[in-house]
Amino acid sequence: MQNRVYYIEGDGVGPEIWSAARPIINAAVEKSYADGRTIEWVELLAGEKAMQEQGEYLPEATLTALGQARFAMKGPLTTPVGSGFRSLNVTMRQSLDLYACIRPVRYFQGIASPVKHPERVDMVIFRENTEDVYAGIEWESGSDEVKKLIAFLRETMGVALDATCGVGIKPMTPKGSKRLVRRAIRFALDQGRKSVTLVHKGNIMKYTEGAFRKWGYELAADEFGDVTFGEGEAQEGRPLEIRDRIADAMFQEVLMRPEQYDVIATTNLNGDYLSDALAAQVGGLGLAPGVNMGDTLALFEPTHGTAPTIAGKDMANPGSLILSGAMLLDHMGWYEAGERIRKAVETVITQKQVTVDLAGQIPGATRISCSAFGDLVGQ
Ligand code: NAD
Repeated sequence: MQNRVYYIEGDGVGPEIWSAARPIINAAVEKSYADGRTIEWVELLAGEKAMQEQGEYLPEATLTALGQARFAMKGPLTTPVGSGFRSLNVTMRQSLDLYACIRPVRYFQGIASPVKHPERVDMVIFRENTEDVYAGIEWESGSDEVKKLIAFLRETMGVALDATCGVGIKPMTPKGSKRLVRRAIRFALDQGRKSVTLVHKGNIMKYTEGAFRKWGYELAADEFGDVTFGEGEAQEGRPLEIRDRIADAMFQEVLMRPEQYDVIATTNLNGDYLSDALAAQVGGLGLAPGVNMGDTLALFEPTHGTAPTIAGKDMANPGSLILSGAMLLDHMGWYEAGERIRKAVETVITQKQVTVDLAGQIPGATRISCSAFGDLVGQ
């Protein structure tokens, strides 16, 4: 039985949400199985703790261990200013080729929501994690690279760019798009979901976002016999519908008709915006879990960042890390333990015992600390 889980504590609220979450994950395993199984937690260093102990933010040993691992969890990491890293998280996702970021968006009874029928919100976002503007190909206004690029475009293509512009490149490949859509469709079929919606901005960016849509449909048609196509291409009697939406319209749609959406497969930047907006419908970032997956490694983490203004005050909501732990247990095949955690979180929220981020939104709620929330979920 594979039970080793590597973990990175993280910066900011990381240590306190871990203190709340880890005992809950351990107890859920212990209570769910009589065979004595446990998780073997192995710590890896990254972020400020790694800087203090080893003099670098992302030690090679951490990447090497993760590169050989199957299961890992991490807390949020501060993006170090002036360190040469665009972001530690993006660096990890790219160097470990964790190409799919998967974020379930599910409503827990009792949470205040800006949508009319939050109980109808049950979506899973598959966000491409390695390409798009996140590939990090950008040049500063006035730099030599931009000057050369402007001259090149003018001479070869007659394109006249403003001499003061900064420039960014948005690369997207058939391989990157298709492996993400493949994963979303497999998940939807496995889970008996109703639809996969490809979200893109292909009306404007035809050869990147538009190509994502085209490659997504091609993949679905070439590799999956048991799907149907929405909007005029429907074939009767097939269970899973593949359709697409333009990103701006999609934001309106998920607010007004969330019940129509199920699994979403989208590009990196659209997925970033969409996952925070959808998290807001179901209680905000404090309850938003996620995972970054490659072909072997699954690295589970909260959607939120280090929340520096509340760090060290025992105020953070540990729900996102606790629920990421439930996703980890599902992924390990330990479903009873995962479900036990989700039910316990729901029970505590229903009892209106919540952390500061939720307390103001729920009439009559009692505001409790991060550690008290963890204690209640773990009971
Ligand atoms: P953030 O997610 O840390 O905070 C956004 C807002 O949500 C803040 O008001 C914060 O207090 C609140 N919040 C976040 N998590 C919460 C929790 N568990 N409980 C209660 N409230 C919570 O975003 P930010 O302020 O833009 O980023 C802070 C740092 O985190 C930056 O260095 C950023 O680069 C980093 N970051 C890391 C990750 C990651 O590690 N995956 C993700 C996003 C941001």
